[in-house]
Amino acid sequence: MLPNFAYVRPTSLDETVEQLSKPGARLHAGGTDLIGCLRDQVFAASSVVSLSSVPGLDAIEKTAEGGLRIGALVRVARLAGEPEVRARFRALADAASVVASPQLRAQGTIGGNLCQKPRCWYYRGEFHCLRKGGEQCFAVRGENHFHCVLGGDGCYIVHPSDTAPALVALQALARITGPDGSRVVPVEGFHVPPSVDPRRETVLEPGELVTEIVLPAPAAGMVSSYRKVRARGSWDFALAGVALALVIDGSRVREARVVLSGAAPVPWRARGAEAALAGRKLDAKSAAAAAEAAVTGAEPLEHNGYKVALFRGLIAEQLEALAPR
Ligand SMILES: Cc1cc2nc3c(=O)[nH]c(=O)nc-3n(C[C@H](O)[C@H](O)[C@H](O)COP(=O)(O)OP(=O)(O)OC[C@H]3O[C@@H](n4cnc5c(N)ncnc54)[C@H](O)[C@@H]3O)c2cc1C
Repeated sequence: MLPNFAYVRPTSLDETVEQLSKPGARLHAGGTDLIGCLRDQVFAASSVVSLSSVPGLDAIEKTAEGGLRIGALVRVARLAGEPEVRARFRALADAASVVASPQLRAQGTIGGNLCQKPRCWYYRGEFHCLRKGGEQCFAVRGENHFHCVLGGDGCYIVHPSDTAPALVALQALARITGPDGSRVVPVEGFHVPPSVDPRRETVLEPGELVTEIVLPAPAAGMVSSYRKVRARGSWDFALAGVALALVIDGSRVREARVVLSGAAPVPWRARGAEAALAGRKLDAKSAAAAAEAAVTGAEPLEHNGYKVALFRGLIAEQLEALAPR
């Protein structure tokens, strides 16, 4: 059952920030994650602040520099089908099209997708785990089939968003608005790894929200993609996923960004893979070398060693799919 809370529906950004700055306030965008968290008492809310009546947060528009500005309230389904996104920022359209189910994509927003809470069953269940202020991560010696193989440090969640790795690969920026005004951060630095603080997921401070995402104009020759492998064909979170953004010059890779989902507590840049690709011809050999580099240093837990092989195969396949023909 949902506990009681006040529900407020501000009509401006200033009013939203004011309401959100109150102790115990939680932001409501599409509500597809928030309502479940409140119902399951993952956290509490004294008030829920709806974004639904705040104007100007649901637009997609071109920037003067040739990039794209996406309001935080833009629905995931719209991103999946938007011609401009599909044509120039394919990784984001690919990622949006595999988020959850059609109903959830129609309701969920890009802001909520970036800020959703982890799916770890200990965190979501009745366990007072490290992330909820407790002393330990129960996944380390528990049912860790779906947990991280990279970047675990005290807490072993995987970051659940499909769009976040695509945005990191595309070098997107997030505009954050709060009591002290507005600031812009790279999406790459938006999520907080457990080595910095296992009790928070993002750099958002009290009273702050994401108001828009800005995609810079893609470099000439940039191609991108996102693919995830899930346990079943219908909606599911990524067991392993990879977002690629490659700048290709002739048959050689000039610059590569390889970002993994389902791998780590934050969208994970596979820098070893990126280095293995830079300056190389993109073919089966370089793809295999990059895939191997991506999993070097992985530290699987008792039940998730399968992920290492899964990432190896997935990354190699996806790289080969982007090779010029
Ligand atoms: C059954 C199921 C399957 C799912 N499968 C997937 C999946 O495969 N891939 C995937 O990526 N996600 C998945 N999700 C997660 C999620 O529901 C969607 O990603 C959705 O996009 C979240 O958006 P929302 O607007 O509904 O967020 P909300 O539920 O409104 O918010 C989610 C969280 O983000 C915060 N928030 C929302 N907007 C902002 C903002 N602008 N600034 C700051 N904080 C904000 C809220 O306070 C809340 O804590 C799934 C969810 C369910 C229930």
